[in-house]
Formats: sequence, structure tokens, C-alpha cells
Amino acid sequence: MSKLLNLSNLVSGDIAIDLGTANTLIWIKGKGICVNEPSVVAVSVIDDKVIAVGNEANAMVGKTHNDIKTVRPLKDGVIADFKMTDGMIQGFVRKINISRIARPRMVICIPSGVTDVERRAVRESAERANASEVYLVEEPMAAAIGIGIDISLPKGNMIVDIGGGTTEIAVISLNGIVVIQAIRIAGDEQDEAIISWFKNEHKLEIGQRTSEKIKCNVGSAIRSKGTTIAVKGRDLVSGIPKTIEVSSDEIRQALADTIHQIQTAVKKALENTPPELASDIIEYGIILTGGGAKLKGLDQHIRNKTGLPVHVSEEPLLSVVKGTGMILEDIKKYQDILI
Ligand code: ADP
Ligand code: MG
Repeated sequence: MSKLLNLSNLVSGDIAIDLGTANTLIWIKGKGICVNEPSVVAVSVIDDKVIAVGNEANAMVGKTHNDIKTVRPLKDGVIADFKMTDGMIQGFVRKINISRIARPRMVICIPSGVTDVERRAVRESAERANASEVYLVEEPMAAAIGIGIDISLPKGNMIVDIGGGTTEIAVISLNGIVVIQAIRIAGDEQDEAIISWFKNEHKLEIGQRTSEKIKCNVGSAIRSKGTTIAVKGRDLVSGIPKTIEVSSDEIRQALADTIHQIQTAVKKALENTPPELASDIIEYGIILTGGGAKLKGLDQHIRNKTGLPVHVSEEPLLSVVKGTGMILEDIKKYQDILI
């Protein structure tokens, strides 16, 4: 926090925001990424007042009393809760302490599935946060730019962005999205799948954080040399906390269905891709990005299932904010893709 406050006297600039379902990242013009925190809000149940956003709110998840609740306003890739989304945007913008004198321009990246009403809500939120001009950009476009692709060329690029709430598969060419396939199966569903696995197979209740940790540490999309891991939870029969040992291959099995659904969506997007662009994808391959792209063996798995080259982007958690930041740095150049 203190590091951010130190910026307060310097920052008068424009900002780019990656409003993700799991993480929100902010880029300040000329400086780069200055916020990278979970998309979580803690609110008072009594008067709906926002108590904390980001890291502070996330630290309260599962530990609140009756008067406070924590919310992830974009959880399923739609802005189901406008008020909470607004509270989150206001909270994050306050965190970076941008100047109240020079009103900033804001470029905000939103999931491609959001409706016009939801877009308007984000725009109005940014205006309330003192923006002078607000530009919206769709997530796959920003991701592609952040990866370093020249999206203005007549060349097909397939981007698979696996976030917390949604997986968005897009084929981009000539500054436009030619094919889009979005499903609500991504990191959150994988965490849920691991929770269900332990409940059904081991009668063990585990929390969401434990589940996410297991996924990131030993989760895999392919069979690999097995290890065993110790998992702590609560025995559903006796109600007593206990630790069990399971093989890492069990985690692969727990994740198999979500991975199948992602791979099926990729195949469907390929089927919908016009032949000239499909031939580019055959040559240059599919690019995986978003936090979910870090799952071990996912690239290999999709390679096996499609027979196409598959690459994981560099720093998958940062592609979208980097792309949105690059747009902010040169709004004129990208004006055709802004909404
Ligand atoms: P969003 O854009 O929706 O905010 P992100 O791109 O920030 O989502 O990705 C968040 C998701 O990535 C979370 O579900 C998180 O658990 C998952 N994730 C992060 N690191 C890994 C990893 N090493 N293996 C598998 N999943 C990961
Ligand atoms: Mg994202």
C-alpha cells in the first residue's frame, strides 16, 4: 500500500484497467502495471457500504462475520451486480490516487460477453471515478495486442484466454474478431471440480483456496510421473479435520471434464473459422493465455486433440493488462478497435 501511496504526488496520468473475473490489473500511462489484485469487494451487509477492495477484501474471504460479506462482482463473466462492480472500480481507482485536477482518460478491458447495458454501467462507473474519456476494449483483442501480435494484418490468430470465470476463444484478423466462442468454464470451475472430487471420492470437505492451491501446484491436463500430496480438510462423516494422501493423478482426473469442455469449445471455434484464416492457424498455431493457461500440460493436451501447434503466452496473467496499456499509450493507433 505504501508503495502505491508514494505515487500519489506523481500520478496525474491516464490509466488502463483489466477488469478480470478473478484479478483486476491497472496500468498507469508511462509507468506500467501498478495494481494487480483479486477482483473482490468486501461490503457491509447493513448499508451496502464498500469496506475494502482487492487484497484487503480477499484476506477477509471465508473469515467474515454476519455484518460483512465478500463478493466477486464479475465471477461468471457477466456484471451480475452493478453496484458491487461500481464499488470495486471506485475502490481500485482510489487506491492509485490519481490526480483530482487532471481528469484521466481510461481504457477498460471487459469480457467479450458483456451486454450493452453492462458496458454502459462500466462506462458510467469510470465517469464517476473522474474519467474524462472512457474507452472500452474487448478482452481477446487486448490479449492479442499484449502478446505482441499485429492484429491489423490480414492474418488469422486464435487466442484462447482462460480466466477465472470464463474461457474466451477468439479468431482475430484485420482489427476485428471474426469468431468468438465464450464458455463459463475456466479456473473457478476447476477449483469447484477438485472440491467435488474430494467430497465424492474421499468424503472430505476442502475450501476453495486449498482447492486452487492444489490445482496450481499439482494440477495437470495430461498423465505425468505421479507424486502424492497431502490434503487437509474436514471429514464429512466424523466432522473432524484430517489430512489424507492422494496421488497427483487424481487431480488430473478431477480436472478432466473441465478440460474436455475447454477443448471442445476450441474445436467448435476452429469449425467456425473461415478456411483462409484456418490455414493461418494451422501454420502459426493457437495461443493460450490467462491464468488458466498455466495449468500443466494444457498446451500438450490441446496439441494432441487438435493436431495444431499450441503455444502458451509469456506471463499469461499479464497479457490483457499489457495490451490494454499498449492501447492507452497510443489511443489514436488503436481507435478502430475501441468501443
Ligand atoms: P481473469 O482474467 O478472469 O481475472 P486470470 O487471467 O487472472 O483471470 O486467471 C485467473 C485464474 O487462473 C484463476 O482461476 C487461477 O486459479 C488460475 N491460475 C493461476 N495460476 C495457475 C496455475 N499455475 N495453474 C492453473 N491455474 C492457474
Ligand atoms: Mg482476463
